[in-house]
Amino acid sequence: MDTKYIFVTGGVVSSLGKGIISASIGKLLQARGYKVTIQKFDPYINIDPGTLNPYEHGECYVTEDGMETDLDLGHYERFTGIRTTRHNSITTGRIYKTVIDRERHGDYLGKTIQVVPHITDEIKRRMLRAPLNPPKGEGNGFDSPLPLENPGEAFDFVITEVGGTIGDIESAPFMEAIRQLRWQLGRDAVCVHLTYVPYLKAADELKTKPTQHSVKELQGMGIQPDILVLRTERHLDDSMRLKVASFCNVDLECVVQSEDMPSIYEVPVSMQRQGLDAAILRKIGIPVGETPAMQPWHTFLQKQRNATREVHIGLVGKYDLQDAYKSIRESLNLAGIYNDVKAKLHFVNSEEITTENVAGKLEGLQGIVVCPGFGQRGIEGKIIAAEYTRNNDIPTFGICLGMQMMVIEFARNVLGYKDANSAEMDDRTPHNVIDMMEEQKTITQMGGTMRLGAYECELKEGSRAAEAYGAVADSSLMIKERHRHRYEFNNKYREEYEAKGMKCVGVNPAANLVEIVEIPEKKWYIGAQFHPEYSSTVLNPHPLFMSFVKACLEK
Ligand code: GLN
Repeated sequence: MDTKYIFVTGGVVSSLGKGIISASIGKLLQARGYKVTIQKFDPYINIDPGTLNPYEHGECYVTEDGMETDLDLGHYERFTGIRTTRHNSITTGRIYKTVIDRERHGDYLGKTIQVVPHITDEIKRRMLRAPLNPPKGEGNGFDSPLPLENPGEAFDFVITEVGGTIGDIESAPFMEAIRQLRWQLGRDAVCVHLTYVPYLKAADELKTKPTQHSVKELQGMGIQPDILVLRTERHLDDSMRLKVASFCNVDLECVVQSEDMPSIYEVPVSMQRQGLDAAILRKIGIPVGETPAMQPWHTFLQKQRNATREVHIGLVGKYDLQDAYKSIRESLNLAGIYNDVKAKLHFVNSEEITTENVAGKLEGLQGIVVCPGFGQRGIEGKIIAAEYTRNNDIPTFGICLGMQMMVIEFARNVLGYKDANSAEMDDRTPHNVIDMMEEQKTITQMGGTMRLGAYECELKEGSRAAEAYGAVADSSLMIKERHRHRYEFNNKYREEYEAKGMKCVGVNPAANLVEIVEIPEKKWYIGAQFHPEYSSTVLNPHPLFMSFVKACLEK
């Protein structure tokens, strides 16, 4: 089968959950046996979101091949189990960089370089996942050309989500690229447009006008949507859908509603019930066939509905917004469900934690996650929290910077190095138990220069970490986890830590970097230099989160 392309755009307002809808479409097509990939195109100028403050754009998600990406890729992976790559997350900045580098390289042979056709052509190339053409482009260091064989060919469906809202000036070239592709690809391309139907309380009415305007705006750019997904907080009856269908030139069966759900994981099932995947197949001209049962997914949803007992877990970090620790939150939710409990997550602002109030701040929590991060702000609170949970034997899971803070706490309070610190926070500390990685010392460029992506880690036999990953008793185990850091455990102190009870139980064999520390005599006190949250999926919750939540539940 030729590759088919699905474009997902959004209108009216942002934050409608385009990522969830794209991931749901991916899931449903996958369930029908198709090979699917999902990619996100973001209209901002940054080369990638790696340099963005989480307050701007939420969590930065990292792919196995080390690309710093938009958090929607996390949804894609959690829903579908697909492992995305650097080709799945594109920004305007990257598009322009490729074009400008090629211009400097002389690839355009004296032509005037313009938004149309050069920028739009580059957008189209990436939407199609086609190789650079002509093959003269040798790549430009950062953004090497895609492999010569067309990676698009390997997929039955390529789903492309475009960030932002219709009408944004900056997304115009993306819309033009979609318009051209639809024309070129004919039935092999389908446009799904997500809009919002607000409910006006005073009038007790749902309003479709913003949707009509949004579709008009799309049509004005030459794009007729095939399918409309209407986000709504209230159920839309058939007459509403019919109204939208007739005003927007869309078949009634192609107007689907996305009501608020108790969980985002209910969305694929709701979409399937309304025939969203069937509508896509019909538009393309593929026989629809039977509706797949999606049994494992339903089993998961049933487990989720049944999990009413609560486990209270603290997220000790400095970003008081939901999206900053998105993957950690989802990983804890998923691990909760598979442990038959509902994870109640409590954000504890580490900037406000002091030795005096720590007991009160962490009261009632059955475990804490010490969150990742960068920079000085809020780290002392993380260290105090780690000390408190170590002394009171409360399950503690440190991730990346969180692990580093557990290591510093141990140095200060057990090894007796009162001034122990990370070189990131204090580059003159005599006790740099966390130090800059050797290969990082010569790097001056920001953006894509950290230790990024999946690296091997050997788990020590008999450790709690090895047990969590399901290692056969008394044998070690090789795992692979994703990273995003510049600093590391300083091996100079390894023996001291081991002697005093903090064990280095996960080590990268190639570079001898410590990846996991644990205190075996505690109930569950583990720090990981990597980010396990990136690889937890709905059908495969991450073993460390599973084991951590289980420990939180033990009295
Ligand atoms: N700032 C720390 C480092 O660069 C930790 C990074 C993180 O938590 N992702 O090593």
